[in-house]
Order: sequence, then structure tokens, then C-alpha cells
Amino acid sequence: MVHQPIEKWIIEGTPLTSEQEQLLQDHLQKCSQCRELQNSVYSLDEMLMQATMSAPTAGFTQRWQTALAERQVLKNRRQVRKFFLSLLGAALLTFGLMGLYIALTSSPVEMVTRLLENAIRVLINLDQLESFAILIFNTLPPSLSMGIWVLIASGLCFFTMIWIGALWRTSFQGVFNK
Ligand SMILES: [Zn+2]
Repeated sequence: MVHQPIEKWIIEGTPLTSEQEQLLQDHLQKCSQCRELQNSVYSLDEMLMQATMSAPTAGFTQRWQTALAERQVLKNRRQVRKFFLSLLGAALLTFGLMGLYIALTSSPVEMVTRLLENAIRVLINLDQLESFAILIFNTLPPSLSMGIWVLIASGLCFFTMIWIGALWRTSFQGVFNK
């Protein structure tokens, strides 16, 4: 029995014309040797598919996505931390100037009390703001968070200015009302 070109078609797996397909099917019905060859090729293909695609990609994709998500959270956390450190710097500067003003205008006991009050207020506000911001950034999808980051940052800057202004006013009123 002549097995060519049937054998070649089975091994190469190239697309066949309808005429060739008909020849192949006719030959396979008559020839058990080529049927076995075709089954071996199918099994080999399946094994290769499983080895190169499904098993590794499932695990790999998941690991990669997890790593990406972790990196994103870390990046957001660093950004938020950096932002709040500069905010803390501004607050401490304001606080220092305020302390200097109070020191020049109040008695020592009053001065210490006022400094402590304001220090506690500053720390509580910063802590709440940071937790809130980190919560927002960890909840948002990565693509959204970058766009919204700018909006929130400007909003927070605006809020901080009002907040520092309010601190100033409270301290000054305290000094003037005594
Ligand atoms: Zn054959």
C-alpha cells in the first residue's frame, strides 16, 4: 500500500483542499497504519499543548497579575506617604511659626498647653487623612487611580490650605481672646 502523500499530510498538519481531505479520509478507512500515525500525532499535539500552554500560563498569569497588583498597591502607598510627608512638613512649619508667635505673646504654661493641643490635633487629622487616602487608592482599579490621583491631590491641597488656615485662626483667636 502506498502511504504517501497521506503520511506527509498527517505529520505536517498543513491545511488540505477538499480533494486532499477526501483522499485522506478514504485512505484512513483502509489503512490502519496511517490511522495509528494520526492518533500518535494527535496525542503528541495534545501533550505539547498542555506542556507549553495551559498548565504554565494559568499559574504564570495569576502570579503575574498578583505581582502587578502588589506593585500597584506599594506604588500608591509610596505616593500617598510622600504626599503626606510633605504635608506634614508644611504643617510642622506652620506649627513652628505658630509656636514662635505664641511663645512671644503668651505665658509659658499657656504656651505649652496650646502647643500640645495643636500637636495632637495635627497628628489626628493627618492619621485620618492618610488612612482614608490609602483606602481609596487600594480600592480603585490601577488605570483609574492614576487619573483620579491628580483630582484627589488637588482636592487635598485645597483642603489642607483651609485646614492650616483654620488652625491659624483658632490659635490667633485664642491668643487675642484671653
Ligand atoms: Zn497508509
